[in-house]
Amino acid sequence: MELTPLCVYLAIVFGADEIAGLRQRNQEELASLREPKWFGSQTKSKIQSSPKRQRREAEWDDFLQKDILGKYITNYETVEQWLEQLAAGTPHLIQLIRIQNVTFEGRQFTIAKLGQHADNVVKPVIWIDAGIHPREKLTQPTAIYLIYRLLDDYYSGTNKDLLEDIDWYILPNINPDGFAVTNDRSQGAQGALWRKNVAAYPSYNNTGAEDNPGTRTAEPCRGVDLNRNFPEHWGYVPDHRVHHCAGTFAGPYAASENETRTLMRVLEDMGDVLSAYVAMHTFSQIVTGSWAFITDERPRNAAEMDRVGKKIAAAISDAHGRDYRYGLPPDIQYPYSGNAADWVTSALNVTFSYTLELRDKDSFPNGRGHMIPEGDIIDVGEETHAGMVVLAREVLAKWNGETADAAQRADARSLNNFLAFVFVCFMQRALCK
Ligand SMILES: [Zn+2]
Repeated sequence: MELTPLCVYLAIVFGADEIAGLRQRNQEELASLREPKWFGSQTKSKIQSSPKRQRREAEWDDFLQKDILGKYITNYETVEQWLEQLAAGTPHLIQLIRIQNVTFEGRQFTIAKLGQHADNVVKPVIWIDAGIHPREKLTQPTAIYLIYRLLDDYYSGTNKDLLEDIDWYILPNINPDGFAVTNDRSQGAQGALWRKNVAAYPSYNNTGAEDNPGTRTAEPCRGVDLNRNFPEHWGYVPDHRVHHCAGTFAGPYAASENETRTLMRVLEDMGDVLSAYVAMHTFSQIVTGSWAFITDERPRNAAEMDRVGKKIAAAISDAHGRDYRYGLPPDIQYPYSGNAADWVTSALNVTFSYTLELRDKDSFPNGRGHMIPEGDIIDVGEETHAGMVVLAREVLAKWNGETADAAQRADARSLNNFLAFVFVCFMQRALCK
């Protein structure tokens, strides 16, 4: 075999590769110098900053990490301001979508859309919402952490493609009226544990006496459990229909609540790009799939839903050693109906549609129930992030026409092929001398 032409060819290829690599590295360094340095603590210290820039970084670090992250939220205006500053500082990565006058008391939805802006590029969408049950107060700071972490990952170069190739819609507070009740000290313990919205129907008090004698006052009997109000087997679990005073009251009819209808409309408008839906709740340390109301029937794509659900639970468990399980609510929790995730599974035909119950694993006295120590909030954010990265990899693989497992195998194959190629080239070069 004549080796010389092959050696020349390889030298050209390797030389060209090295030059291309250098050029790419230079471009990346240039690009990174142009980008704000509020994120990416791993890379930040390596880059010389002007005093002015250092001051600005310090302000952002203070704002990001001390005032918002790792804290229970008592005043949602601070979150709104934080989101506004993020969007103003990084408009190519985060935009705010405000939907005005959604709630009974006129509050808005503020949705953070994260994803590297790209004209004429259609990307898959992952939707995450938190706080549909306002008393589950770990969910809102976890959503906040996810927003922070996706941006931080982008700037530190870890999982950068998750913002390049996916659009994330994160709604940290899907029940702002109820959230306000939980932070209204004048409403006492009942307010702090508020689960519903605050809708008041005139007929409640007329019929309420029959359903629930003794509760005739308007205040305790206000509100609808929004996660029982979606039009997927609405009212199938009969308890949800009986007492408008109950914490799980499903509403006077399916999709009676504007919060419910607004979420439905937004998700419907996304069409086929909606690739995953995650509703965050507390507590139990479980990831659940559909259906929530029955186990002897399953959705069409149940096998795929279950496979990825188990991977998400495993990734969350691995992050900090907490035990998270995957299953169906009737098996590992309790049956319920009219929830958001089931509606997304059914009406929008989304395979990766999950309800995520965060820490703690148990209620008092064996656990902390809804209120874990504030010092553990970042850990919950980190483990939830690990689960969402797994989900995102599956979304991308499905978008590209294969499962993530197959994609990983293909990556391993191409790495092996590449190493074999390098070995052959090395031998060829040695032989050329
Ligand atoms: Zn809940």
